[in-house]
Formats: sequence, structure tokens, C-alpha cells
Amino acid sequence: MLEVRMVTKRFGETTALDRVELTVTDGEVMGLLGPSGCGKSTLLRVIAGLETPDEGRIFWDGEDITRTPPHLRRFGLMFQGYALFPHRTVAENVAFGLRMRGLSPAEIRRRVDEVLSWVGMGGMGDRGIEGLSGGEQQRVALARTLAPQPRLVMLDEPLGALDRLLRERLIVEIRELLSRNRTTALYVTHDHTEVAAVADRVAVMREGRIVQVGRWTDIRSEPADRWVAEFVGV
Ligand code: ADP
Repeated sequence: MLEVRMVTKRFGETTALDRVELTVTDGEVMGLLGPSGCGKSTLLRVIAGLETPDEGRIFWDGEDITRTPPHLRRFGLMFQGYALFPHRTVAENVAFGLRMRGLSPAEIRRRVDEVLSWVGMGGMGDRGIEGLSGGEQQRVALARTLAPQPRLVMLDEPLGALDRLLRERLIVEIRELLSRNRTTALYVTHDHTEVAAVADRVAVMREGRIVQVGRWTDIRSEPADRWVAEFVGV
């Protein structure tokens, strides 16, 4: 279980995160929804350990990890520009995080095959990245994120660069994949359709604060205030 307690992060005059409180329970997919600049990416970076909060604490299963280095958190982070290695094969890309963990070549091969089959790319390990479609590259990036068995997966606008039809298909696949593995996840987007399709609960952010947390249908039927109502389109 992830707990973010009263986390504040400032960049000069800007308060990117303002006393943020958030709990993500085991196996839950939490959507993080808010307009551009509201602090979504900063929150993910603080949880990942890429930024240190000015105030507040972060806990995993009750353990304070606020100062734990990123690679010891065992969290997986996937960005929109997921930067696959273009001159490597699919399998080499997926194996990247496994090599860092010191698995044997046989273990790596087995794990890569398993994860590629999860994302519907079984048998495509020897393909080059450059010959793949956008959707296939997105699947490889997802496989690479999931391969080291992260305790928490954070997806930051993972489908942002793709066209709508492909996004609608992939979001269903991502949802199934996360449920099947009971993955604890944070899914950042500014797209309402995506958040509705993927998240068990949704945290709505505005100007560095979380203004409402709940099931998407509940937020829509009972928005916390006028701003949330307008933002979620009711
Ligand atoms: P979002 O992901 O919701 O678009 P961000 O977390 O990227 O929002 O940004 C939140 C606020 O913090 C914005 O005002 C942004 O300009 C500011 N910010 C984010 N990162 C930095 C940084 N490294 N230096 C200065 N300001 C930053």
C-alpha cells in the first residue's frame, strides 16, 4: 500500500504540490486526473524518488521511503515519451531492467517471453524497435516497465502520443493486464475516457492539491465543488 502524507514540493515561487494526501491500496489502479500544470508529474516523480519533497512523507506498507533512492523502491515508471532503445531488439529492451537486477540469462529470457506474451507480442522478441508501429512500441514499453515486477507501476500519459482509436483499444488491454496481475498502479492522464476505463478510483488534482478522491461515477454524481463539476463535465 502506498501512502502519501502531507507532501509539499516547491520550485522557487511555484508550489507544485501542496500538502498532498493520497492512499493507493494493494492491487488498486488509482487514476490521477487534472489539467496541465496541476502537479501530476511532480507527484509521480516524488513517489518515484526522482524529486525530494520539501515537506511530508511517503510510505510503502508502513515503511517510510521518503529518502529511499529510486532504484531501491522497486517502482516502475513509464512516461509518454517512453524512450525505447531504437537500435536494440524488442527482447533487449524488455530485458533492460532485468539485467540491472542481476538475473541469469536463462531467467531473463524466460521472464522476457512471459511479459511479451502478456502484452500480445509473444514471439516478437527478435524484432527491431524501428520497424514497429506506435501501438507495438507502446506495448514494448509497457512490457519493459512490468518485467522487473515493480511493487507499484506509475504510468504518466502512456497513450498520449497515439491516435484515438488505438488508445481506446490499448486502454482496455492495459486495464486487463493490470487486473490480471493485481498490479498496484497510478495512472496519470488528462483524458476522462481513459480514466473512466482504467481506474478503480480517481484522484482529481488542481493547483498542486488533491481536491477529490473516489470512484469516477461517484465523482461525477457528487463532485466536491463547482470546479470539479465543470472539470469532470457535469
Ligand atoms: P502536470 O504534470 O500536471 O502537467 P507538473 O507536475 O509538470 O504538472 O508541474 C506542476 C507545476 O510545477 C507547474 O507549474 C510547472 O511549471 C512546475 N514545475 C514542474 N517541474 C518543475 C521544475 N523542475 N522546475 C520548475 N518548475 C517546475
